[in-house]
Formats: sequence, C-alpha cells, structure tokens
Amino acid sequence: MNLSAAQAQSSANISYNVSFPEAQAHYAEIEMHVTGLKQNTLDLKMPVWTPGSYLVREFAKNIEAFSANINGQTVASPKINKNTWRVNTKGKAAVTIKYRVYANENSVRTSYLDVSHAFLSTSGIFVYPANMLHAPSTITIVPYKNWDKVSTSLEMVNNNPFVRHSPNFDILFDSPIEVGNQDIFGFDVNGVKYEVCMYGGGNYDKERLKKDMHAIIEQEAAVFGENPNKHYTFIVHNHLRGGGGIEHLSSTVLGASRDAYGSEKGYQSFLGLVAHEHFHLWNVKRLRPIVLGPFDYDNENYTTNLWIAEGFTEYYQEIAVRRTNLYSPENYLDQIANEFNILENLPGKNVQTVAESSFDAWIKGYRPNENSNNTTISYYTKGAIIGMMLDLEIINNSNQKYHLDDVMKYMYNTYYKTQKRGYTDAEFKKGFEMFAGKKLDDFYKKYVNGLDPVDYNKYLGYAGYKINDELADNNDAALGITTGTTAAKKIIVTGVIRGTAGYIDGINVGDEITAIDGNPVTDAANLIAGKKPGDKIEVAVSRDGQAITLPVTLLKSNRVKYKIVSLDNPTPQQLAVRKKWLSL
Ligand SMILES: [Zn+2]
Repeated sequence: MNLSAAQAQSSANISYNVSFPEAQAHYAEIEMHVTGLKQNTLDLKMPVWTPGSYLVREFAKNIEAFSANINGQTVASPKINKNTWRVNTKGKAAVTIKYRVYANENSVRTSYLDVSHAFLSTSGIFVYPANMLHAPSTITIVPYKNWDKVSTSLEMVNNNPFVRHSPNFDILFDSPIEVGNQDIFGFDVNGVKYEVCMYGGGNYDKERLKKDMHAIIEQEAAVFGENPNKHYTFIVHNHLRGGGGIEHLSSTVLGASRDAYGSEKGYQSFLGLVAHEHFHLWNVKRLRPIVLGPFDYDNENYTTNLWIAEGFTEYYQEIAVRRTNLYSPENYLDQIANEFNILENLPGKNVQTVAESSFDAWIKGYRPNENSNNTTISYYTKGAIIGMMLDLEIINNSNQKYHLDDVMKYMYNTYYKTQKRGYTDAEFKKGFEMFAGKKLDDFYKKYVNGLDPVDYNKYLGYAGYKINDELADNNDAALGITTGTTAAKKIIVTGVIRGTAGYIDGINVGDEITAIDGNPVTDAANLIAGKKPGDKIEVAVSRDGQAITLPVTLLKSNRVKYKIVSLDNPTPQQLAVRKKWLSL
C-alpha cells in the first residue's frame, strides 16, 4: 500500500533547540531536528504573520545562516520563495537545520531579546515543515547566563521548565515564550491556574492585581459559562513607556509602563487591557470568524467580522470591569461615550463601513498614513458601539429576558463546541436575531454594511439615557489640522481633517507653519487664538523648502463631545433595561 505524502510525513519527529549565545546582539540560534522522513525534499516555512495582528510582517526577513545537514554533511537548502527553504533530504530519514534569528523588534507581537530577557513570538522564530502543521514538536530552551525562568502556556516535558511540548504548530504559533528572570505570581480562578509573569519591574501591587484580575476573569467566564483552559499565562512587558496587547489561546502578552500601576487612571487602563486580551480567549481564539483558524500562515486571512472579534471584545472589556464594580456606572457610561466621540470626530465614518474596515485591516488599519482619519474607521470603536446597540436592542425587545451575553454563549456553544468551526457573517446575524426576536436586515444595512449615522438616542433611549453634546454651544473657530513640534521647535502639520478650513484652503501634511497674519508662530496650541469663524487669515508655510502663503477662511469647529445623561423621567421599562444593561 502506498502512503500518501501527508501520511508519510505524519510520522516525522520534530524538535528544536533554542539558545542565545549572542543575546547582547539580539540573536537567537535555532537548531531543528527532524527524523522519520521518507521524502526526497523537505520544504521548511516561516509564517508571514502572527494571528491576532492582521499585518504581513515577513518574519523570514530576520533569518540568516540557514543550513541543513544530514549525517554530518551539509546539503543544499535553497530558498524557493520569500518564506520557504527546500532541503534536499534525498530520502534520508533525519536532517538537522540551523539558523539564526535577529530579534530586535520590541512589541507584544514580535520577538525581542537582549541580555535581560528573551521574548519569543513563536510564529517569527520557528520554521515548520510544509504540510505538517498537525505535527507535534519538542522545544528545548538553553537560557542565557543567569536566566532561570521560562513562561509559556506550552506544557513542560518531565517537569522541566526548559523543555516544552507542542501538540501541533497552530498551538506552537499561539504560545509565546518568555525566558529570563521575570517576576512570577499566580492565583487560581475556579480551578484554572493563572500565572502573571512581569518583565521589566514596575510599581505594581501583586495582591491588588491578583484580587482585581480574579474578579474580571470570573465575570468573563460567566458570559460563556465555562473557562476552557486548565492554565493561562499573562506575559507582561513593563517598559519606560509601554502598551498594547495580543491574545493567544491560553496566554496573552501585554505591554505596560513601569510606573503606570501607581495612578488610578494607569491602573484602570491596565485592568482594561487585561480584560480585553483575556476575553479574546473565547472571542476570536475559539468563537471565531470562519477564516481565522485553521490559519493560512502564507497569506492574508480576510474577514469582514473583526468588528465582532475585536469590537465586541472592546465592548466586553468595559462591561467585565463594570460588573466587578471596579467601575461605577457613571465611569462606564463615560467610557462608552468616549467610543462615540472617537467615531464621530473621524471624517472616515462617512467613507468606510465597519465590515470594510475589518476586511482591509491588512492594508489600512495596520498601515495607517496621514490621511487615514479621513478615509477609515476603527473596527474596535464602531464594533464596540454596535455591540452596545445590539445589547440594548436585545434587552429591550426581549423584555430584559436576554442580553448580548446570551448571543455570545449560544454562538460559542453552537460553533466552537458543537460544530468545531468558525462562524459565518450570516450565522452571527441569525444568532443576534434569535435573541432580539426580530430581523436585523435593516440594522446590518445601516450600521454594518452601511454608513448611516448612529442613532444614539434611539438605543440609549431604551435604557432611559440620551446623549448631550457638551460642545453644542461652542462657537470656536478651527483650522482643522494636527501638528507636531520638532526638536528645533518647528511646527509641522501631521494631519489635515477633511471638510475643515485647513483642508479646503490647502494646508498640507508636512508643511511647516512659520507665521500667521505675518506673526511668527511659536505655540502650536494657540495658532488661531482670538479668531472667530468666518475670519480670514494668512497662513505662511514652508513646503519643500519654499515659502508659500495660504489665505484661509476659518470655519466653526464641528467637533462633538458627547456625554451620556439620564432622561428626566425614565419609565419603569427604561429603568428595567438600564438595570440589566449596567448590572445594577
Ligand atoms: Zn483585541
């Protein structure tokens, strides 16, 4: 009987050895052993992106000195495309691969190492044999000098923290590895072991973090009715100025500023990040758009549903913290209003739908330019707003019987647990409709696939709230530009907002503003102090080394600043919706 290529390959044994002899220069050295081969060539591939971050990052660009060796002899291993090496195995059963990875991109989604620690974002570290994503592997970490800890969600082999097992490559690429002297503390949430691994120091209070993270985790698990992990790892990178986060199946990587834990604002923002990335272990890692797993590691993976995967996670991050009572209801409403303000002050809201924003994350959201605010919106922001609208619609229409949690739990049980696959756009819409008790074609047409202005008062009205624009009576003039100041104190235009005076009268990004009405400018914050809408001014700029004077007619600022306030006399029905929505 002939074995198919895949069957022949499935018996291969794969192990890696990772060491850091040149940590000071940001290099990891990888030695990979593959045995049990039965083919003449072996293609080894490096993913071009890391799931959770929708950008082709070309991780193969960091690889050098790739070589293949059989029985002590170097064999040919030419590259056949940007991320594939073809090793001439000549039917031999075992091959050793060696290469070096330059890891000097300090973010939660890319690898970075120096003498203080190594953070391995695995999709940019390990090459995998083509067509063998299902194969298990063993990873041995050889720490640099005095490093004594490894933090990752990969299981230990023989209780050795430096040797880890990965059941398949999807799990390996979803399990970042932190090596060094990180500060580790743990806690237990209803039988699930949580570990927090702090790199970089910081003014965090472990006991307070344990208590508050515990409360958030419990609230999030309650949405889905279960916590599918046995253990979960928070890898936290504390820097002078740090931020960002990325979700994984059984872990997350968070960026924070070392001193941020000391202020209430900084601490709340860290808890918000914890709530966001942890909620993803359900929403997107398991309950997921159908194209997001199994992944295509060679190409973009397009979905119109990041407004659910990311936007709803943004919505639930606030809800989860609200439900722990770490936020007051007022604080929570201010967070929601902040999302309104971000969306409403972006001209892109009239150009790009939230479905388009999701689909084009690869080329627009992750590759912003100076004109992005005019042409794009964030699926995080509008997705969170749609989450709120649907939550209120469901609560109101079901007489408080259901809320958005019921949809999330139903979708998780139906598609992740029962059908073991991702959902389609139409299936999620059906889930909403089931609990809202009505068709949502019109809603989708307006808000998901359309550019209709959000009817805030309709949805907030269900809960006896409305929006107040605190800038409604404002008659300030606006130039409609954003600026930055260089070290030489030059004021440079960084953005021009569509529809404003600066846009209409031709101020350009990159212009250096030198004078207004003949007076040299020094203070970017006060370029048009004392001016009114309708005033004509002369803006002198230096553009490409040439002096230009632009006549500009100032317009009234069209910025809004919404606050959510209660209606004067909410009805009992409105108060009942409010109670359910805000967990009062
Ligand atoms: Zn997210």
